[in-house]
Amino acid sequence: MTELVSSFEKNIFCFDANYIRNKFAAIHFINQNNKLLIVDTATNHSAKRFLNALHTMNIAPESVEWILLTHVHLDHAGGAGFLMRMCPNAQLAVHARGVRHMVNPEALWASVVSVYGKEEAEKQYGQLIPVDENRVVAVGEGEIISFQNRKLQIFDAPGHANHHIVIFDEESKSCFTGDAFGIAYPELTNEDGEFIFISSTPTQFEPVKFDITVKKIMEQKPQSCFLTHFSKIINIEKNGYELLKQLDEYVTISQQSRTCDSQQDQIREKLFELLYKKLEKTNLSISRREFGNLLSLDLSLNAQGLEYWNNKINKQV
Ligand SMILES: [Zn+2]
Repeated sequence: MTELVSSFEKNIFCFDANYIRNKFAAIHFINQNNKLLIVDTATNHSAKRFLNALHTMNIAPESVEWILLTHVHLDHAGGAGFLMRMCPNAQLAVHARGVRHMVNPEALWASVVSVYGKEEAEKQYGQLIPVDENRVVAVGEGEIISFQNRKLQIFDAPGHANHHIVIFDEESKSCFTGDAFGIAYPELTNEDGEFIFISSTPTQFEPVKFDITVKKIMEQKPQSCFLTHFSKIINIEKNGYELLKQLDEYVTISQQSRTCDSQQDQIREKLFELLYKKLEKTNLSISRREFGNLLSLDLSLNAQGLEYWNNKINKQV
């Protein structure tokens, strides 16, 4: 079980949640003086495996002091209710806009069922467990979480979702970014660095806000960022500029597809071509097919999100 845990500088760890596949979603944690602060929980199924891994490492659930959620999409927050139930001393910190969804997950659940259907939703996520209101702390811009003499600063981080925060850890000078600083899979990393791309999942993608968030993260000059999909990256400035460029490219693709009958398919196809062209400029030798498989879910979600955003903009005009 512990082979799923990687360790980094300053007592930072990554647990491979094994959601969808290996090295797709991470549960990060800091182990300071045998006390734990967790960032994102993945799903119920992952959270159970995570507790087993802690058990193997002789860490009791009672040691967990904080569970921080970057945002309340279910691959980040689906296991939060379960973990809070199992970790009696933990407090849950989440963006003010996410609190009600954690206390009463019915609306969140309904939206997932509407996308996947009840059976598939239950298979993927298990049952969402509500969190006791008294154990939830709403956090926002500029707030500090104190954890074992360590200070973690919260930044509001909209663009991917309105309920998104990023967490800057002063001790390691690193940032836990959820989906606010893109996605970078280890399979696409080589000596030139990481292959990063924007996640524009429905329904709150906002490129202008996203741009501000990416710049805000870059301004902190973090030595590394820990992405939920998937874990540590180090070339922050280079990746930051690439993300800013991609926001423009995503917008252009959306605009070009606006009048198209099968808008979503068109956007998906253009996103694939855009990203694969970027991949070809790296030293990685990965076929179109392998690349398409690896990014399949992300391309579909990104296309859905861009179509949704496109239609929203159209209505405003
Ligand atoms: Zn997300």
